[in-house]
Amino acid sequence: MHDFFYKGSELHCEAVPVSLIAKRLGTPFYLYSYSTLSRHLKVFDRAFNKYPHVICFAIKACSNLAILRLYAREGAGADVVSGGELFRSLKAGMEPKKIVYAGVGKTDEEILYALKKGILMFNVESSEELRAIDRIAKKAGKKARVALRVNPDIDARTHPYIATGLRDHKFGIPIEEAIENYRLARKLSNIEIVGIHKHIGSQLTEVSPFVDALNRILILVNELKAEGIGIKYINIGGGLGITYNDESPPHPEEFAKAILPLVKDSGCTLILEPGRVLVGNAGILVTKVLYIKKTREKNFVIVDAGMNDLIRPTLYGAYQKIIPAKKRKDSTITADVVGPICESADFLAKDRKLSLPKEGDLMAVMSAGAYGFTMASNYNSRPRVPEVLVKGSRIFLIRERENYDDLIRGEKIPRFLE
Ligand SMILES: *Cc1c(COP(=O)(O)O)cnc(C)c1O
Repeated sequence: MHDFFYKGSELHCEAVPVSLIAKRLGTPFYLYSYSTLSRHLKVFDRAFNKYPHVICFAIKACSNLAILRLYAREGAGADVVSGGELFRSLKAGMEPKKIVYAGVGKTDEEILYALKKGILMFNVESSEELRAIDRIAKKAGKKARVALRVNPDIDARTHPYIATGLRDHKFGIPIEEAIENYRLARKLSNIEIVGIHKHIGSQLTEVSPFVDALNRILILVNELKAEGIGIKYINIGGGLGITYNDESPPHPEEFAKAILPLVKDSGCTLILEPGRVLVGNAGILVTKVLYIKKTREKNFVIVDAGMNDLIRPTLYGAYQKIIPAKKRKDSTITADVVGPICESADFLAKDRKLSLPKEGDLMAVMSAGAYGFTMASNYNSRPRVPEVLVKGSRIFLIRERENYDDLIRGEKIPRFLE
Protein backbone atom coordinates (compact mmCIF):
# COMPACT_ATOMS: atom_id res chain seq x y z
CA MET A 1 0.00 0.00 0.00
CA HIS A 2 1.27 3.43 -0.85
CA ASP A 3 0.05 7.01 -1.12
CA PHE A 4 0.47 7.64 -4.84
CA PHE A 5 -2.94 7.62 -6.51
CA TYR A 6 -5.09 9.39 -9.05
CA LYS A 7 -7.55 12.08 -8.05
CA GLY A 8 -9.51 12.58 -11.22
CA SER A 9 -6.93 12.30 -13.93
CA GLU A 10 -4.04 13.70 -11.85
CA LEU A 11 -1.51 11.54 -10.07
CA HIS A 12 -1.07 12.70 -6.48
CA CYS A 13 1.40 12.03 -3.72
CA GLU A 14 -0.77 12.30 -0.61
CA ALA A 15 -2.58 15.63 -1.17
CA VAL A 16 -0.16 17.08 -3.72
CA PRO A 17 -0.47 16.75 -7.50
CA VAL A 18 2.80 15.42 -8.89
CA SER A 19 2.59 17.97 -11.70
CA LEU A 20 2.66 20.83 -9.20
CA ILE A 21 6.05 19.74 -7.90
CA ALA A 22 7.33 19.37 -11.46
CA LYS A 23 6.21 22.91 -12.21
CA ARG A 24 8.17 24.25 -9.24
CA LEU A 25 11.24 22.08 -9.46
CA GLY A 26 11.60 20.88 -13.01
CA THR A 27 12.26 17.24 -13.83
CA PRO A 28 13.43 14.61 -13.13
CA PHE A 29 13.08 14.22 -9.36
CA TYR A 30 12.57 11.58 -6.72
CA LEU A 31 9.41 11.94 -4.70
CA TYR A 32 8.71 10.19 -1.39
CA SER A 33 5.53 9.97 0.65
CA TYR A 34 5.94 10.60 4.36
CA SER A 35 2.86 8.63 5.30
CA THR A 36 3.94 5.61 3.26
CA LEU A 37 7.43 5.65 4.76
CA SER A 38 6.08 5.98 8.25
CA ARG A 39 3.32 3.39 7.87
CA HIS A 40 5.62 0.78 6.36
CA LEU A 41 7.95 1.00 9.35
CA LYS A 42 5.02 0.80 11.78
CA VAL A 43 3.49 -2.21 10.05
CA PHE A 44 6.81 -4.02 10.03
CA ASP A 45 7.50 -3.17 13.65
CA ARG A 46 4.01 -4.15 14.76
CA ALA A 47 4.39 -7.56 13.13
CA PHE A 48 7.20 -8.33 15.58
CA ASN A 49 5.89 -6.44 18.60
CA LYS A 50 5.31 -9.52 20.75
CA TYR A 51 9.00 -10.30 20.74
CA PRO A 52 12.10 -8.28 21.74
CA HIS A 53 13.53 -6.90 18.53
CA VAL A 54 15.52 -4.06 16.99
CA ILE A 55 14.80 -2.79 13.49
CA CYS A 56 17.99 -1.69 11.77
CA PHE A 57 16.90 -0.06 8.53
CA ALA A 58 19.29 -1.05 5.72
CA ILE A 59 20.15 2.47 4.73
CA LYS A 60 21.77 1.57 1.43
CA ALA A 61 18.22 1.26 0.10
CA CYS A 62 17.52 4.96 0.69
CA SER A 63 19.85 7.09 2.73
CA ASN A 64 18.66 10.70 2.54
CA LEU A 65 19.20 12.37 5.92
CA ALA A 66 15.58 13.45 6.20
CA ILE A 67 14.34 9.90 5.75
CA LEU A 68 16.90 8.56 8.21
CA ARG A 69 15.81 11.21 10.71
CA LEU A 70 12.19 10.24 10.21
CA TYR A 71 13.05 6.60 10.94
CA ALA A 72 15.31 7.47 13.86
CA ARG A 73 12.44 9.40 15.45
CA GLU A 74 10.18 6.41 15.01
CA GLY A 75 12.64 4.22 16.88
CA ALA A 76 14.57 2.49 14.12
CA GLY A 77 18.30 1.97 13.99
CA ALA A 78 20.50 1.40 10.98
CA ASP A 79 22.26 -1.37 9.14
CA VAL A 80 25.30 0.25 7.55
CA VAL A 81 27.87 -1.11 5.12
CA SER A 82 30.46 1.67 5.05
CA GLY A 83 31.98 4.49 7.06
CA GLY A 84 29.98 6.91 4.94
CA GLU A 85 26.72 5.20 5.84
CA LEU A 86 27.71 5.25 9.51
CA PHE A 87 28.41 8.98 9.22
CA ARG A 88 25.00 9.60 7.64
CA SER A 89 23.19 7.54 10.25
CA LEU A 90 24.82 9.43 13.11
CA LYS A 91 24.20 12.80 11.43
CA ALA A 92 20.55 11.87 11.12
CA GLY A 93 20.38 11.12 14.83
CA MET A 94 20.41 7.32 14.82
CA GLU A 95 21.48 5.93 18.20
CA PRO A 96 24.89 4.19 17.96
CA LYS A 97 23.46 1.39 20.12
CA LYS A 98 21.02 0.63 17.30
CA ILE A 99 23.59 0.53 14.51
CA VAL A 100 25.01 -2.69 13.07
CA TYR A 101 27.78 -2.75 10.52
CA ALA A 102 28.10 -5.40 7.77
CA GLY A 103 30.24 -5.68 4.64
CA VAL A 104 33.12 -7.89 3.48
CA GLY A 105 35.64 -5.08 3.04
CA LYS A 106 35.75 -2.90 6.14
CA THR A 107 38.95 -0.85 6.26
CA ASP A 108 41.02 -0.17 9.39
CA GLU A 109 39.82 3.43 9.37
CA GLU A 110 36.18 2.41 9.13
CA ILE A 111 36.55 -0.12 11.93
CA LEU A 112 38.19 2.45 14.21
CA TYR A 113 35.48 5.00 13.42
CA ALA A 114 32.74 2.52 14.33
CA LEU A 115 34.55 1.49 17.52
CA LYS A 116 34.89 5.10 18.62
CA LYS A 117 31.20 5.73 18.03
CA GLY A 118 30.23 2.67 20.07
CA ILE A 119 27.95 0.91 17.58
CA LEU A 120 25.88 -2.07 18.70
CA MET A 121 27.99 -4.59 16.78
CA PHE A 122 30.03 -5.48 13.74
CA ASN A 123 28.66 -8.21 11.52
CA VAL A 124 31.95 -9.90 10.74
CA GLU A 125 32.37 -11.64 7.40
CA SER A 126 35.72 -13.49 7.71
CA SER A 127 38.37 -14.67 10.18
CA GLU A 128 40.72 -12.11 8.66
CA GLU A 129 38.29 -9.32 9.51
CA LEU A 130 37.82 -10.74 13.01
CA ARG A 131 41.57 -10.49 13.64
CA ALA A 132 41.68 -6.99 12.18
CA ILE A 133 38.87 -5.81 14.46
CA ASP A 134 40.62 -7.35 17.46
CA ARG A 135 43.92 -5.67 16.56
CA ILE A 136 42.31 -2.26 16.04
CA ALA A 137 40.19 -2.55 19.18
CA LYS A 138 43.28 -3.44 21.23
CA LYS A 139 45.12 -0.38 19.98
CA ALA A 140 42.13 1.82 20.74
CA GLY A 141 41.65 0.28 24.18
CA LYS A 142 38.16 -0.92 23.28
CA LYS A 143 36.27 -4.15 23.24
CA ALA A 144 34.44 -4.79 19.95
CA ARG A 145 31.00 -6.37 20.04
CA VAL A 146 30.59 -8.76 17.13
CA ALA A 147 28.22 -11.14 15.43
CA LEU A 148 29.58 -13.49 12.83
CA ARG A 149 27.77 -13.28 9.52
CA VAL A 150 27.12 -16.86 8.58
CA ASN A 151 26.49 -17.90 5.01
CA PRO A 152 23.88 -20.64 5.33
CA ASP A 153 24.08 -21.88 1.71
CA ILE A 154 20.43 -21.21 0.97
CA ASP A 155 19.08 -20.28 -2.44
CA ALA A 156 17.07 -17.06 -2.02
CA ARG A 157 15.43 -17.63 -5.43
CA THR A 158 15.89 -14.04 -6.50
CA HIS A 159 17.97 -12.25 -9.14
CA PRO A 160 21.55 -13.66 -9.04
CA TYR A 161 23.04 -10.19 -8.46
CA ILE A 162 21.04 -9.74 -5.26
CA ALA A 163 21.36 -13.25 -3.84
CA THR A 164 23.98 -13.39 -1.09
CA GLY A 165 23.50 -16.66 0.79
CA LEU A 166 25.01 -19.31 -1.45
CA ARG A 167 28.31 -21.09 -0.97
CA ASP A 168 29.99 -19.33 -3.89
CA HIS A 169 29.02 -15.81 -2.78
CA LYS A 170 31.60 -13.53 -1.19
CA PHE A 171 29.37 -12.84 1.82
CA GLY A 172 29.69 -14.28 5.31
CA ILE A 173 31.49 -17.23 6.79
CA PRO A 174 30.54 -20.62 5.34
CA ILE A 175 28.24 -22.30 7.83
CA GLU A 176 30.51 -25.32 8.24
CA GLU A 177 33.37 -23.02 9.29
CA ALA A 178 31.26 -20.97 11.68
CA ILE A 179 32.06 -22.90 14.87
CA GLU A 180 35.81 -22.67 14.41
CA ASN A 181 35.48 -18.93 13.81
CA TYR A 182 33.45 -18.49 16.98
CA ARG A 183 36.18 -20.41 18.83
CA LEU A 184 38.73 -18.02 17.36
CA ALA A 185 36.58 -15.03 18.35
CA ARG A 186 36.39 -16.31 21.92
CA LYS A 187 40.19 -16.41 22.10
CA LEU A 188 40.67 -12.84 20.87
CA SER A 189 40.97 -10.60 23.90
CA ASN A 190 39.34 -7.47 22.45
CA ILE A 191 36.38 -9.21 20.88
CA GLU A 192 33.08 -9.75 22.64
CA ILE A 193 30.77 -12.24 20.95
CA VAL A 194 27.18 -11.00 21.14
CA GLY A 195 25.35 -12.34 18.13
CA ILE A 196 24.91 -14.24 14.92
CA HIS A 197 23.92 -12.74 11.58
CA LYS A 198 22.69 -13.90 8.20
CA HIS A 199 21.31 -12.12 5.15
CA ILE A 200 20.61 -14.32 2.15
CA GLY A 201 19.52 -11.81 -0.47
CA SER A 202 17.07 -9.19 -1.55
CA GLN A 203 13.60 -9.07 -3.11
CA LEU A 204 12.61 -12.47 -1.74
CA THR A 205 9.00 -13.26 -2.54
CA GLU A 206 8.60 -16.43 -0.49
CA VAL A 207 8.93 -17.19 3.20
CA SER A 208 10.58 -20.59 2.87
CA PRO A 209 14.19 -19.49 2.18
CA PHE A 210 14.03 -17.26 5.29
CA VAL A 211 12.76 -20.18 7.35
CA ASP A 212 15.30 -22.65 5.98
CA ALA A 213 18.17 -20.24 6.58
CA LEU A 214 17.02 -19.41 10.11
CA ASN A 215 16.67 -23.09 10.98
CA ARG A 216 20.27 -23.66 9.97
CA ILE A 217 21.35 -20.71 12.07
CA LEU A 218 19.41 -21.94 15.09
CA ILE A 219 21.10 -25.33 14.98
CA LEU A 220 24.37 -23.46 15.10
CA VAL A 221 23.21 -21.34 18.04
CA ASN A 222 22.54 -24.53 19.99
CA GLU A 223 25.91 -26.00 19.09
CA LEU A 224 27.55 -22.79 20.26
CA LYS A 225 25.62 -22.90 23.50
CA ALA A 226 26.89 -26.43 24.10
CA GLU A 227 30.41 -25.04 23.83
CA GLY A 228 29.65 -22.30 26.30
CA ILE A 229 29.43 -19.58 23.64
CA GLY A 230 26.32 -17.55 24.40
CA ILE A 231 24.45 -15.63 21.72
CA LYS A 232 22.29 -12.65 22.72
CA TYR A 233 21.20 -11.39 19.31
CA ILE A 234 19.96 -13.28 16.29
CA ASN A 235 20.07 -11.04 13.23
CA ILE A 236 18.04 -12.44 10.34
CA GLY A 237 18.99 -9.69 7.88
CA GLY A 238 16.64 -8.09 5.38
CA GLY A 239 15.44 -9.12 1.98
CA LEU A 240 11.66 -9.15 2.14
CA GLY A 241 10.41 -8.36 -1.36
CA ILE A 242 7.82 -5.91 -2.63
CA THR A 243 5.37 -5.77 -5.52
CA TYR A 244 6.89 -4.13 -8.58
CA ASN A 245 4.65 -5.81 -11.13
CA ASP A 246 2.75 -8.98 -10.31
CA GLU A 247 4.83 -10.40 -7.44
CA SER A 248 2.95 -11.33 -4.29
CA PRO A 249 5.54 -11.27 -1.51
CA PRO A 250 4.52 -12.19 2.02
CA HIS A 251 3.07 -9.40 4.15
CA PRO A 252 5.29 -8.52 7.15
CA GLU A 253 2.65 -10.17 9.39
CA GLU A 254 2.97 -13.40 7.49
CA PHE A 255 6.73 -13.11 7.54
CA ALA A 256 6.73 -12.58 11.31
CA LYS A 257 4.34 -15.51 11.81
CA ALA A 258 6.85 -17.78 10.10
CA ILE A 259 9.88 -16.41 11.96
CA LEU A 260 8.71 -15.83 15.52
CA PRO A 261 7.79 -19.41 16.47
CA LEU A 262 11.31 -20.47 15.51
CA VAL A 263 13.07 -17.98 17.78
CA LYS A 264 10.62 -17.67 20.64
CA ASP A 265 12.47 -20.02 23.00
CA SER A 266 15.94 -18.83 22.07
CA GLY A 267 16.09 -16.12 24.71
CA CYS A 268 17.70 -13.90 22.10
CA THR A 269 16.79 -10.44 20.87
CA LEU A 270 15.91 -10.42 17.19
CA ILE A 271 17.56 -7.94 14.84
CA LEU A 272 15.85 -7.21 11.52
CA GLU A 273 17.42 -5.32 8.63
CA PRO A 274 14.58 -4.40 6.27
CA GLY A 275 15.46 -2.07 3.42
CA ARG A 276 13.39 -2.36 0.27
CA VAL A 277 10.18 -3.40 2.02
CA LEU A 278 10.08 -0.13 3.98
CA VAL A 279 10.95 2.35 1.26
CA GLY A 280 10.58 0.70 -2.16
CA ASN A 281 6.97 1.63 -2.76
CA ALA A 282 7.26 4.89 -0.82
CA GLY A 283 9.13 6.65 -3.62
CA ILE A 284 8.76 7.36 -7.33
CA LEU A 285 10.92 8.93 -9.99
CA VAL A 286 9.16 11.63 -11.98
CA THR A 287 10.41 12.22 -15.49
CA LYS A 288 9.35 14.19 -18.55
CA VAL A 289 8.84 12.91 -22.08
CA LEU A 290 11.29 14.65 -24.40
CA TYR A 291 10.60 12.92 -27.70
CA ILE A 292 8.57 10.12 -29.15
CA LYS A 293 10.83 8.54 -31.71
CA LYS A 294 9.48 6.00 -34.13
CA THR A 295 11.78 3.87 -36.24
CA ARG A 296 10.84 1.07 -38.60
CA GLU A 297 11.82 -1.42 -35.88
CA LYS A 298 10.63 0.15 -32.69
CA ASN A 299 9.04 2.98 -30.82
CA PHE A 300 11.06 4.87 -28.26
CA VAL A 301 9.68 7.15 -25.60
CA ILE A 302 12.71 9.27 -24.76
CA VAL A 303 12.55 10.75 -21.27
CA ASP A 304 14.79 13.06 -19.28
CA ALA A 305 15.71 10.43 -16.64
CA GLY A 306 18.31 7.82 -17.47
CA MET A 307 20.18 4.86 -16.10
CA ASN A 308 22.36 7.21 -14.06
CA ASP A 309 19.23 8.27 -12.16
CA LEU A 310 17.68 4.81 -11.79
CA ILE A 311 19.86 1.86 -12.68
CA ARG A 312 17.70 -1.06 -11.60
CA PRO A 313 16.27 -1.84 -15.07
CA THR A 314 19.76 -1.76 -16.57
CA LEU A 315 21.52 -3.63 -13.79
CA TYR A 316 18.99 -6.30 -12.93
CA GLY A 317 16.58 -6.20 -15.86
CA ALA A 318 14.18 -5.04 -13.17
CA TYR A 319 10.57 -4.15 -13.95
CA GLN A 320 9.42 -0.68 -12.84
CA LYS A 321 5.85 0.28 -13.52
CA ILE A 322 5.52 3.52 -15.49
CA ILE A 323 2.32 5.55 -15.38
CA PRO A 324 1.31 8.98 -16.63
CA ALA A 325 1.13 11.88 -14.18
CA LYS A 326 -2.01 12.95 -16.03
CA LYS A 327 -4.20 10.26 -17.51
CA ARG A 328 -5.13 10.58 -21.18
CA LYS A 329 -8.04 8.88 -22.82
CA ASP A 330 -6.11 8.40 -26.05
CA SER A 331 -4.63 5.28 -27.53
CA THR A 332 -1.72 3.16 -26.35
CA ILE A 333 1.77 2.60 -27.67
CA THR A 334 4.24 -0.23 -27.19
CA ALA A 335 7.68 1.27 -26.77
CA ASP A 336 11.01 1.21 -25.04
CA VAL A 337 11.21 3.96 -22.45
CA VAL A 338 14.77 5.21 -22.69
CA GLY A 339 16.94 7.97 -21.25
CA PRO A 340 19.44 10.37 -22.81
CA ILE A 341 22.56 8.39 -21.81
CA CYS A 342 24.90 7.13 -24.51
CA GLU A 343 24.47 3.44 -23.76
CA SER A 344 22.08 0.93 -25.27
CA ALA A 345 21.54 -0.33 -21.73
CA ASP A 346 19.99 3.02 -20.84
CA PHE A 347 16.36 2.06 -20.53
CA LEU A 348 13.64 2.24 -17.90
CA ALA A 349 11.33 -0.20 -19.69
CA LYS A 350 11.47 -2.46 -22.73
CA ASP A 351 8.58 -3.21 -25.10
CA ARG A 352 6.18 -1.68 -22.63
CA LYS A 353 2.56 -0.98 -23.42
CA LEU A 354 1.87 2.58 -22.26
CA SER A 355 -0.91 5.05 -22.72
CA LEU A 356 0.39 7.11 -25.63
CA PRO A 357 2.15 10.15 -24.16
CA LYS A 358 2.78 13.50 -25.81
CA GLU A 359 6.03 15.39 -25.72
CA GLY A 360 6.24 17.30 -22.45
CA ASP A 361 4.06 14.84 -20.54
CA LEU A 362 5.16 13.74 -17.09
CA MET A 363 5.56 10.09 -16.27
CA ALA A 364 6.01 8.41 -12.90
CA VAL A 365 8.37 5.49 -12.54
CA MET A 366 6.80 3.66 -9.62
CA SER A 367 8.46 1.69 -6.81
CA ALA A 368 11.67 3.68 -7.09
CA GLY A 369 12.15 4.41 -3.39
CA ALA A 370 14.67 1.63 -2.79
CA TYR A 371 17.99 1.39 -4.61
CA GLY A 372 16.91 4.36 -6.70
CA PHE A 373 18.59 7.60 -5.70
CA THR A 374 21.23 5.75 -3.65
CA MET A 375 22.53 4.08 -6.81
CA ALA A 376 22.44 7.26 -8.90
CA SER A 377 25.65 8.51 -10.49
CA ASN A 378 26.91 11.47 -12.48
CA TYR A 379 27.59 9.40 -15.61
CA ASN A 380 27.51 11.49 -18.79
CA SER A 381 28.11 14.47 -16.47
CA ARG A 382 24.48 14.59 -15.48
CA PRO A 383 23.77 16.42 -12.23
CA ARG A 384 21.96 14.17 -9.77
CA VAL A 385 18.27 14.92 -9.41
CA PRO A 386 16.57 16.40 -6.35
CA GLU A 387 14.68 14.45 -3.71
CA VAL A 388 11.34 15.67 -2.41
CA LEU A 389 9.28 14.56 0.56
CA VAL A 390 5.54 15.17 0.70
CA LYS A 391 3.64 15.17 3.97
CA GLY A 392 -0.06 15.79 3.51
CA SER A 393 -0.27 18.94 1.46
CA ARG A 394 3.25 20.12 2.28
CA ILE A 395 6.25 19.77 0.01
CA PHE A 396 9.80 19.55 1.36
CA LEU A 397 12.93 19.65 -0.76
CA ILE A 398 15.18 17.14 1.03
CA ARG A 399 18.02 17.22 -1.49
CA GLU A 400 18.75 19.95 -3.98
CA ARG A 401 19.27 19.33 -7.64
CA GLU A 402 22.99 19.30 -8.38
CA ASN A 403 24.31 21.96 -10.73
CA TYR A 404 27.20 22.04 -13.18
CA ASP A 405 29.58 23.38 -10.55
CA ASP A 406 28.75 20.38 -8.34
CA LEU A 407 29.90 18.18 -11.20
CA ILE A 408 33.47 19.46 -11.15
CA ARG A 409 33.81 20.10 -7.41
CA GLY A 410 37.12 18.73 -6.22
CA GLU A 411 38.61 18.33 -9.68
CA LYS A 412 41.96 20.02 -10.28
CA ILE A 413 43.97 20.86 -13.37
CA PRO A 414 47.68 20.23 -12.59
CA ARG A 415 50.08 23.16 -12.71
CA PHE A 416 51.86 21.94 -15.84
CA LEU A 417 48.64 22.20 -17.82
CA GLU A 418 47.87 25.72 -16.74
C1 LIG B 1 21.18 -4.94 1.48
C2 LIG B 1 21.13 -5.55 2.83
C3 LIG B 1 19.95 -5.55 3.57
C4 LIG B 1 18.63 -5.01 3.04
O1 LIG B 1 18.12 -5.77 2.01
P1 LIG B 1 16.62 -5.44 1.47
O2 LIG B 1 16.41 -6.46 0.43
O3 LIG B 1 16.64 -4.07 0.94
O4 LIG B 1 15.70 -5.61 2.63
C5 LIG B 1 19.98 -6.07 4.85
N1 LIG B 1 21.12 -6.57 5.38
C6 LIG B 1 22.28 -6.59 4.69
C7 LIG B 1 23.49 -7.14 5.34
C8 LIG B 1 22.32 -6.09 3.40
O5 LIG B 1 23.47 -6.14 2.72
